[in-house]
Amino acid sequence: MNLEKIMTDLEKKHPGEVEYLQAVREVLESIEEIYNENPQFESAGIIERIVEPDRVLTFKVPWVDDNGKVHVNLGYRVQFNGAIGPYKGGLRFHPSVNLSILKFLGFEQIFKNSLTTLPMGGGKGGSDFDPKGKSNAEVMRFCQSFMLELWKLIGPETDVPAGDIGVGGREIGYMYGMYKKLASEHTGVLTGKGRNWGGSILRPEATGFGAVYFAQEMLRTKGMDFQGKVVAISGFGNVAWGAATKVTELGGKVVTISGPDGYIYDPDGISGAKIEYLLELRASNQDIVKPYSYEFPNAQFHQGKRPWEVKCDVALPCATQNELGLEDAKALVANGVICVAEGANMPSTPDAVNTFIENKIMFGPGKAVNAGGVATSGLEMTQNSMKISWTAEEVDAKLHQIMTEIHNQCVKYGTQPDGYVNYVKGANIAGFLKVANAMLDQGII
Ligand code: NDP
Repeated sequence: MNLEKIMTDLEKKHPGEVEYLQAVREVLESIEEIYNENPQFESAGIIERIVEPDRVLTFKVPWVDDNGKVHVNLGYRVQFNGAIGPYKGGLRFHPSVNLSILKFLGFEQIFKNSLTTLPMGGGKGGSDFDPKGKSNAEVMRFCQSFMLELWKLIGPETDVPAGDIGVGGREIGYMYGMYKKLASEHTGVLTGKGRNWGGSILRPEATGFGAVYFAQEMLRTKGMDFQGKVVAISGFGNVAWGAATKVTELGGKVVTISGPDGYIYDPDGISGAKIEYLLELRASNQDIVKPYSYEFPNAQFHQGKRPWEVKCDVALPCATQNELGLEDAKALVANGVICVAEGANMPSTPDAVNTFIENKIMFGPGKAVNAGGVATSGLEMTQNSMKISWTAEEVDAKLHQIMTEIHNQCVKYGTQPDGYVNYVKGANIAGFLKVANAMLDQGII
């Protein structure tokens, strides 16, 4: 593989798509060796085919606000790779959404879904619409308009979107309602559905729970666990909430959460009633970080800062991409961090990742650590197909088993001669091999 030539060609074809190019480079660097050892991949043009999405749909989403004013947002669906199953991946509603971000997320999703052991291809979608500060009626009109285009492309055996940043149960509900009306069918076309209309129990907390199960496996390789560990978490969305809940359950102490404007340090730990309080704030669409520091006076709010300056044993970045840079990584290492596990997608910049690996810190990349979300979406699809509903214990046991299996695959392909597990390499190789072999079997299509 001529990595630099591939990257130069891609940069020419897709100028300015920074996040997408960053994600491709990271994967190609990890799989270069195994790719070169298997010449059948080169002759089938696997790299050239896997780095380009199968198709991208871009569409306008016109909607009317409560004052009668017309707005137009952009909508996207990137169907990246369907070699091992129907396209599967979330929808993100956030003003920062653009094609580069969705292509990076869709590309990562291919390998993540492959790692889950379930038959799911990779996709991603969303819009630059910002649900923050909108009324329920406005969110509903937007979601309906979005689905009016998207429904043409998706289906329970074709492409099954889920939630992501800005898309939770409310948005999934509005989109599902519109899909059902247009397609005249009640099928598992979206995951993250409400419990009493086809959703899986535990889906909302699955990504955070799964991330902590994965980190638990990482710690176990060193004979450790979460008991008594100090844990720094960023964000306080869906993933961070699930992670904070599970860390607390396993005996760890969560001391930070964050938002775009800064972070909270609570030396007493963020658990129980405090988590409930945060959920209430989030549900009422309010800013959560500052009010928390007024409510719990021992907690300090650090304006414009990130939580990575706090001394901790385990760091779980759970907010957004590129939120942990080189200086943050250096600070974590200097403060003696043992394990960093990415709940979010690509939260660490490439030089931060290198810093962890060079210092032999246990580092779990998002595509392995946060795969519990999509895995539980896969379990929702299975329940929908079988028209049954598993109990929380059944789903949790399956999730736990999947996370352990993903960890095993990372160890299998990522263990270095000195015993250090390079989880980035392990996850990329394991995820890639399954998809690449499926592509070989299916011919040039
Ligand atoms: P949410 O929208 O529920 O939460 C995102 C959180 O991050 C919010 O608390 C938000 O604060 C905060 N945040 C946003 N931007 C920044 C920033 N620049 N600095 C600090 N905090 C910030 O999203 P999710 O929890 O669903 O997703 C978080 C990450 O996990 C994303 O990378 C997503 O792709 C990934 N992921 C999510 C899965 C899921 O099942 N939901 C599955 C797999 C991965 P505020 O609300 O104040 O803006």
